[in-house]
Amino acid sequence: MTRDPRYDVLFEPVKIGPVTAPNRFYQVPHCTGMGYRYPKSEARLRGIKAEGGWGVVSTQETEIHPTSDITPANEARLWDDRDIPALRAVTDAVHEHGSIAAVQLVHNGLHTANRYSRAIPLAPSNTVIDSDDPVQARAMDKADIKAFRRWHVEAALRAKRAGFDIVYAYAGHDMTLLHHFLLARHNHRSDEYGGSLENRMRLFREVIEDTKEAVGDTCAVAVRMAVDELLGKEGMQYDAEAHDVIEALAELPDLWDVNLSGWSNDSQTSRFSNEGFQEHYTSFVKSVTTKPVVGVGRYTSPDTMVRLINKGQLDFIGAARPSIADPFLPKKIENGRIEDIRECIGCNICTAGDNTCVPMRCTQNPTIGEEWRRDWHPEIITKLDKPKPYLIVGGGPAGLEAARALTQRGAEVVLADKADVWGGRVTAESNLPGLNAWGRVRDWRVWQLQQVANAQMYLNSHLSAQDIMDYAIPNVVIATGAKWRKNGQGRVHRTPLPFLNNDHVFTPDDLMIKGVNVISSNGPVIIYDDDRFYMASVLAELVVSAGHEVVFVTPAPIVAPWSENTLEQTRIQTRLIELGVEIMPMKHLAGMSEGRLSVSCAYSGQVQEMACGSLITVTSRTPEDKLCAELTVLRSDWADAGIKSVKRIGDCIAPGIIAAAVQSGHLYAQEAGFDAVPEPKREDYGRI
Ligand code: ADP
Ligand code: SF4
Repeated sequence: MTRDPRYDVLFEPVKIGPVTAPNRFYQVPHCTGMGYRYPKSEARLRGIKAEGGWGVVSTQETEIHPTSDITPANEARLWDDRDIPALRAVTDAVHEHGSIAAVQLVHNGLHTANRYSRAIPLAPSNTVIDSDDPVQARAMDKADIKAFRRWHVEAALRAKRAGFDIVYAYAGHDMTLLHHFLLARHNHRSDEYGGSLENRMRLFREVIEDTKEAVGDTCAVAVRMAVDELLGKEGMQYDAEAHDVIEALAELPDLWDVNLSGWSNDSQTSRFSNEGFQEHYTSFVKSVTTKPVVGVGRYTSPDTMVRLINKGQLDFIGAARPSIADPFLPKKIENGRIEDIRECIGCNICTAGDNTCVPMRCTQNPTIGEEWRRDWHPEIITKLDKPKPYLIVGGGPAGLEAARALTQRGAEVVLADKADVWGGRVTAESNLPGLNAWGRVRDWRVWQLQQVANAQMYLNSHLSAQDIMDYAIPNVVIATGAKWRKNGQGRVHRTPLPFLNNDHVFTPDDLMIKGVNVISSNGPVIIYDDDRFYMASVLAELVVSAGHEVVFVTPAPIVAPWSENTLEQTRIQTRLIELGVEIMPMKHLAGMSEGRLSVSCAYSGQVQEMACGSLITVTSRTPEDKLCAELTVLRSDWADAGIKSVKRIGDCIAPGIIAAAVQSGHLYAQEAGFDAVPEPKREDYGRI
C-alpha cells in the first residue's frame, strides 16, 4: 500500500546543521537498560528502530567520564577510546537503514553517587546528591570546570569517531551537570558561573560552543533542555527563565530537543496525562529560534503529528515510548498501514526495566530487548513448516498474543473465551479509573486477528476438558488467567487468614466484574494492599468516586512502592491524599469482626482497631489452572483424541504484569515447532 498524501509532510528530509535527517521521525534519547554491558543487544535494538523508519535514532545518556558513573544502571559510556567499538556497532546498525545516529553525552553531576568509580560527585556547589547514598558532591572549582569542558570535548570527538551524526549537550531531567548549573536551587556560586541567569547558563553556552568547535564541521550539535520542571516558582518555568535561556542561546545549537523535567514529568503515564501533554510547555520554542525543534508527548496518531508540523510547533516528532511499542510506526504510516500501528499504552513498564537495571520490556511489544538475545523482530517471524492447528483457551493478553503470533507464523488457530468480550484482565482493568488506554493491548491484537483467514475466534465459549478432548485439535494452549485471592495471602501473610472468610471482604475481581456497587458499606471501606503496584490505588479511586470513605492500609512504607519504577509513585500517593484517602503504612492484618478491623504495627506488633464497613484485599492471585489439571488427568487419552501437546501460558502459570502475559504468549508462539527450544544468547561482560 502507499501512504496517504496527507502524511507526506512527515517524510520530508530536514537539515540539522551539517547533516540531514531523512524524515521527521526522531527517536529521542531513551534508556534501554542495556548500554555498555549489553552492547550487541543495544546495537540491534537501535538498528531495528532505523529499519522501522525512524530518521534519527539516538542512544541513551552516554557517560563522558568516571565522575559521571551511574552504576548500577546500564547506560552508554564514552569514558575512553575502549568504549568506541560498542557505539560504533550502534551507528553502523542505524546507518545501514539510511537513518542518522545521535548520541546524548551526559555528565550526571549531583545525580549520581559514582558507586563503581568511587569518584567524588561533582556539582556547582557543595550539596547532598539525589539518591539516598550517604554521599555529598563537592563544589567544582575553575580547574574542575575546565576539566569538565575538556572531558565533554574528548567525548564528543570519540562520538564522532564512533560515527555519530548528532552530538548532544544535555541540560535536562535535573540529572545533568549542565542542568544543575542552570538551576538556582543547585547553583549557589558567587563567581561568573553562578548568581544571575546569564552566569548560570555560562557553562551550558561554553559547552555548546566547545562541542561545535570540536565536531561541528561534520556533526550537528543538539541540545536537550528541560523547559519546565512543574515545580512552579521553585523550578525553571517555560514562561520565565527557561524561555530566557532558549532565547539567549537560540541560534547556537543546530537543534533544540525540548521537554519537561524530571523524568517522571517527561515520561508521564496515560493514567495521569494524555497524548500531547507537553505541548503547553514546549510550543513557544519555535517562536524564539530558527533551528529545528523536536518535542515529545507520547504521539502515536499520524494526524496529530501532521497537525504539529503544519502549525509550526515542531519540526520533528520526537518519540521514545511510541518507538518502543512500535519500532515500525513510521514505516506503517509510509506504507499506508496506520491501523497496524501498535500504540503505546503509556504504562511505563519500559521505564521499569531501566529502573531495575535490566534490559527493557514493553507491554505492547514483547520483542523489545530480545532483538539480539533471542533474534526476535517486531514485524518478522519465521513461518512454521507444515503447522498443525492450535486451540487457545482464553483470550486475555497471553492468549491473544499467542494467537496473533501463531497465525503470523501460518498456523490455523482457534481462540475461545468464555466471556462475551475479548481481553480478559486487560478489558477488566481498562475499565478502571485512568487505565482506559490499556485496552489498546486487546484492540491491536483483536484487529490483527480479524484481518487474517487462519484465525477462528469464539466468544461465550466456556470450554471443559472434555470439550477440548472432543475438538481433537493437536496443540492446546491454556491461557485461562488468574483470580485475586480473598484470603489475604501475599508477601506478609504467607498463609490464608481465616478471619477474612466473611461477606464483608471483596477482591479486585469482585469490583471489576460486578462493579463498585457490590460494596454496600455501613462504614469506611478499607483497602489492604500487599500487591504494591497499581491495582489497590486504582480501586481506591474507584471506591472514592462511588462516595465511600476509604482507608488505605499497607505493610509497605508508602503507597504502591513498585510504581516508583514506572515513575508514578508520587503522583499516585498525591492523588490519594487529594481524594481524602487516609493512608496507614506499615500495617499488617490482625483480625476482623462485625464492623471492625484490627491491624498491627509492622515493627512493634501493637494492635489497633478501626471501623470497617467493607474490606478489599489486594494481595496476590491464584492461577486458574483447573482446566489444565483436568486435562493432565486425561493425559493417557490425548493421543487417541488427536492431542499432541497441552501447555499453559500467561497468568495461569504464574500471575504477573500484563507485559509478562503478552511475553509469555509470544514466547510460546516463537518456540512452536522447535524440538529443542533455542537458548537465548549471552553477551560477554565488560571490556577485556
Ligand atoms: P492472561 O493475562 O494470562 O492472558 P486473563 O485472565 O487476562 O489471563 O485472561 C484469561 C481469559 O481466559 C479470560 O478472558 C477468561 O474469560 C478466559 N477463560 C478462563 N477459563 C476459560 C475456559 N474454561 N474456557 C474459555 N475461556 C476461559
Ligand atoms: Fe508504551 Fe508501556 Fe510499552 Fe512503555 S511499556 S512503550 S509505556 S506500552
